[in-house]
Amino acid sequence: MARPYNFSAGPAMLPDSVLIRARDEMLDWHGSGMCVAEMSHRGKEYMSIAAAAEADLRALLAIPDNYKVLFLQGGASSQFAMVPMNLLRDGQDAAYIKTGSWSKKAIQEAKRYCTVAVTEGGIEGRFTSVPAQVDLLLGDDASYVHYTPNETIEGVEFPYVPDTGDIPLVADMSSTILSRPIDVSRFGLIYAGAQKNVGPAGLTIVIVREDLIGQPMEGTPTMFDYKIHADNESMYNTPPTYAWYLAGLVFQWLRELGGLEQMGVINERKAKLLYGAIDASGFYANPVRPDCRSWMTVPFTLANPELDASFLAEAKGAGLLTLKGHRSVGGMRASIYNAMPEAGVQALVDFMAEFERKYG
Ligand SMILES: *Cc1c(COP(=O)(O)O)cnc(C)c1O
Repeated sequence: MARPYNFSAGPAMLPDSVLIRARDEMLDWHGSGMCVAEMSHRGKEYMSIAAAAEADLRALLAIPDNYKVLFLQGGASSQFAMVPMNLLRDGQDAAYIKTGSWSKKAIQEAKRYCTVAVTEGGIEGRFTSVPAQVDLLLGDDASYVHYTPNETIEGVEFPYVPDTGDIPLVADMSSTILSRPIDVSRFGLIYAGAQKNVGPAGLTIVIVREDLIGQPMEGTPTMFDYKIHADNESMYNTPPTYAWYLAGLVFQWLRELGGLEQMGVINERKAKLLYGAIDASGFYANPVRPDCRSWMTVPFTLANPELDASFLAEAKGAGLLTLKGHRSVGGMRASIYNAMPEAGVQALVDFMAEFERKYG
């Protein structure tokens, strides 16, 4: 049975082959007689699943040995607090780059803990580009610089990695992690909720340079201390076992596909195809400056918003699901994460052309 293409921003679609494998292993994982969801996280079967997932993630991103990889709960939103709680140093502040809705939320949370120097990357309702390196306010006194490489809602992606010198760079990569190769050594800390590009909701990945952890601010809850999780290999308490396992299957799928180099080539092609169709038409529009357009989350509007409901209904009929834009920006949004095949983007582009012929 051919499944429809799901353009949901998150939780998002997963590769068919991963779901089929999970189905095949559902009742009896490798002769254990157990579903992975039924296993003790401290049993040898589950420990092997967890270790393999970490090893595959380390291989995919070429994560250096002096970085810890943590498999946590709480979503990226908990990281908005965990980052300042663990990375702020006495008497210091933090610098944030504001490029859209998610960085705005991260800033609001950080302000509970420190003074925040903000580089404004746009104004409310008009986040359509990112600031240039020369315009970044890094301060002399920042414990870290935080940014959001891909703003999921506005579809704005940094075309460069900010240079912050000796100040640790922190990135919320929830909607872009694993979409292309990155140089992890440029970052002090990377975090990502899994439900966009990694696996099911409930898992949050943190990649952190070892020397940055172990100095949480006074009063930090045990569960919010990175060092506790690092020292216990993410098993201080019960981790999100099934989500971790499914993420591991996604990592294997990526490695079999040729790794992030190959994934990046495919993602760039997908993005070019969709933006090309939008730009070639007077009927569809995307407001983002071309060099800052996201490869993963593509918002677009119709010339006549009164057609939005018909567009969504007919798209659904054509097997193209969840294209409604975020409530804050309206219009449409096509999330074309790793698991979205090129054929899915082609089907969307074909549908858009047909819809324009009918109503344009
Ligand atoms: C989805 C998203 C979040 C929020 O993630 P949760 O896991 O729901 O807390 C934060 N930042 C970015 C960039 C996102 O895309």
